[in-house]
Amino acid sequence: MTVEHHLQASGDGQGPAAGPAGSDGKGIASLFATDTLATWPDELAATLARARIEVDLDMLAANLAAVRRFLQPGTRLLAVVKGDGYGVGAEMAARTFAAAGADALGTATLESALRLRRSGITAPILVFQPPEPPLLDFWLREGLQATVHDAATLHALSQRAVALGVGRPLAVHLEVDMGLGRGGLAPGQVAPLLAGAASLPGVRIEGLYTHLPTAARPRLALRLLDRFLRLVRDLEERGLRPPLVHCAESHLLVLAPYAQLDMVRVGNLLYGYAPRAARRAGLAVRPPSRLVVRVWAVHRAGDMTPGYRGGWARPGTPVAVLPVGLADGLRPAREARHWGDRMVILGRRLLGALGARQVLGASTAPPGPRVRAGHREVPLRGEFMMNHCLFDATGLPLAPGQEVELLVSRLTAPAHLPVVYLRGGRPVAVAWPQRQVLECVTAGTATAAPGGTAGGDAPAAAEAPAGAGDGQELRPVTGAASPGAGAVSPEAAVAPPVAGGPAHPDEETMG
Ligand SMILES: *Cc1c(COP(=O)(O)O)cnc(C)c1O
Repeated sequence: MTVEHHLQASGDGQGPAAGPAGSDGKGIASLFATDTLATWPDELAATLARARIEVDLDMLAANLAAVRRFLQPGTRLLAVVKGDGYGVGAEMAARTFAAAGADALGTATLESALRLRRSGITAPILVFQPPEPPLLDFWLREGLQATVHDAATLHALSQRAVALGVGRPLAVHLEVDMGLGRGGLAPGQVAPLLAGAASLPGVRIEGLYTHLPTAARPRLALRLLDRFLRLVRDLEERGLRPPLVHCAESHLLVLAPYAQLDMVRVGNLLYGYAPRAARRAGLAVRPPSRLVVRVWAVHRAGDMTPGYRGGWARPGTPVAVLPVGLADGLRPAREARHWGDRMVILGRRLLGALGARQVLGASTAPPGPRVRAGHREVPLRGEFMMNHCLFDATGLPLAPGQEVELLVSRLTAPAHLPVVYLRGGRPVAVAWPQRQVLECVTAGTATAAPGGTAGGDAPAAAEAPAGAGDGQELRPVTGAASPGAGAVSPEAAVAPPVAGGPAHPDEETMG
């Protein structure tokens, strides 16, 4: 669950008086200077003092505008916010893209779409996950556009739509699998399904799409694209073509502008992950996010080489300690275990030294993390432990409490860290994912728990189509009402049952 705190709500409407978080090295100080912080959960304040992801919302909007300028007039733009908005937080990414003129949003999972709806986002949302019978009603109630992979699901959606008396027909997009293997109709199944779907009540076939492996296999993707376009021509001739045909994601959009068709579904480009071809094609996007971490300690390596693994710092080397690690999803660069790997790395270094980086191509393994402090930047040589990172700080004059930027190839892994959103260089909101522990209670046998039922927050089991199961209910273990009090640390999850839980082993109802 993402708790979002709007700094502007409590202050003078301009956020904190200090400059942009992080940019002046006083980022945390400027955040902590706000009155709002007093109302934030203590755990959030504590986490912010350790690490945060900063996201420039203006940059996200500018990236969307850049992609829009690249499109033919009239082509629709669906902004993909899967993977929690590629690590920057799906909710604020979705709000920003919708406000900047995205025609629709795309999520990979139902739960992500439901979160967006619960946060008040009303834009059209296409869910790439196809509905299954116990979950159909979520699509219908929340007006989520459905991806359909088979006739049975289409009929089931139609029946439920009629049974629920949903006003507007549900928009459905058929997905065809041209070979990616992630699911979808076989090309030959599309025409018969479309022919039979015209008369179905409660649903309307709005789109037909496919997803191709362009990023890793561009030549193959172009062949598959040709096959897809032949299928579309065939449907046109039979008068079966749905209004929105789409196939281009970031890579295909740049590789084959003729693949834009009626709509494009763009993720990577919006978050500044640009294929080199994008720049060549005049499509300039920039990364909107940075991972900022406070240095915990700096010391000189003693005679024993530091770390579990050791071997990366000689005696006397300055060693910095960062409070982030494997638990934050961070991984060191792939190690060269085998002589073959070592030769490849050596070869790359040689070529790099000769200034021949371009020769290496985009498909080589991503570079390992780097650390930046001020204007200096070095490769991260060291070790990640569960909650720590130790590294050789040679070349970076670091002091405890100072902020450094960790440059990682993808921000999706540490997406559970708090995200601080900036607009006009000032913090405007913080998203903080937290785990709330809900207790399973069976109706009838439950003792009255403080805080009543889960009510407003979770879909009530009694009426939700895919609730917790027969007669089961979920309620917050802490009976929490406020976001602050509702936060339960992962450690608490393994604590013994608390008051309001089953008092007797016979009452255990996990079945
Ligand atoms: C992820 C995804 C996209 C976006 O791909 P990018 O490479 O991030 O632009 C588009 N469509 C589908 C179905 C996806 O799963």
